[in-house]
Amino acid sequence: MLEQNQKPLENPANKYPKPPFVKQPQEAPGLASKMQPLPDHGEKSYKGTGRLLGRKALITGGDSGIGRAAAIAYAREGADVAINYLPEEQSDADEVIALIEAAGRRGYAIPGDITDESFCKSLVEQAAEKLGGIDILVNNAGRQQAVDSILDITTAAFDATMKTNLYGAFWITKAALAYLPEGASIISTTSVQAYEPSENLFDYAQTKAAIVAFVKSLAKQLGPKGIRVNGVAPGPVWTPLQTSGGQPQDAIVKFGEVTPLGRPGQPAELASIYVQLADNDASYATGQIYGAAGGSGNP
Ligand code: NAD
Ligand code: MG
Repeated sequence: MLEQNQKPLENPANKYPKPPFVKQPQEAPGLASKMQPLPDHGEKSYKGTGRLLGRKALITGGDSGIGRAAAIAYAREGADVAINYLPEEQSDADEVIALIEAAGRRGYAIPGDITDESFCKSLVEQAAEKLGGIDILVNNAGRQQAVDSILDITTAAFDATMKTNLYGAFWITKAALAYLPEGASIISTTSVQAYEPSENLFDYAQTKAAIVAFVKSLAKQLGPKGIRVNGVAPGPVWTPLQTSGGQPQDAIVKFGEVTPLGRPGQPAELASIYVQLADNDASYATGQIYGAAGGSGNP
């Protein structure tokens, strides 16, 4: 018999949809609302306990996927949250703002392209003004387009991946340092691709390896200032990044199959890591990479 409020044990292998999935191409960046099945970002399941009460968080790529799961969890833990995303993702962003407000917190939508340095500065300024400061920065936006051969990666595509995944976080973090107080936390989304790069994610995997170095170097710079810097390395997670060109459609059909859990992760399954890394409780965790990859991958 379960005690009052006791959660039943859940078998992680059976908890969420397994492959095969249907092919479902979208133009990047894609919308979570068009995915089949819909991803779980914790809309119905995440319960907060006040771990981040009164915090002010800026999350890039907060409209969908892992960033949306973090945004929902942060709001339910008591934080006010600003999200950044691309203008074509407005409908996904609107859903997130409604969820933040339903949690009784303030949510701010700041669309714009982080491959533009001046926008990155303005994003941080707008977020700080609306939130009244920033004490959690989640560098999570990303571009992933699978291409079989290096010979077919154009300079423009290579540049777009670097600008989105590396320069964006570089510019945003620089601007945010004007606001981040002692005790603040920076969290970057890297990937299992940093450690075990796929042949068709040549440019993307390089950025994810660089993000590991970003985290570990910056943690050393900012440790004495009392600001922690950590990363999260997901394995295959069911998000529009993957269905809108991050994988070929043949790979979407069996997405997550090779992991020991036999399925992709859902964004909701990573949210508590972003909460933990932002919380004061994680005060000795800096320069670390936390993994969530269904039993395979690193770290
Ligand atoms: P997602 O598509 O839901 O989120 C990525 C977001 O990046 C988009 O919503 C978009 O708002 C943002 N973005 C892309 N280009 C942008 C630009 N130029 N300007 C502003 N915003 C831009 O997918 P996701 O999988 O949740 O991705 C979040 C992070 O997780 C990414 O860094 C991704 O590399 C990483 N990741 C994902 C997986 C996975 O399997 N889904 C695995 C490892 C790492
Ligand atoms: Mg999106």
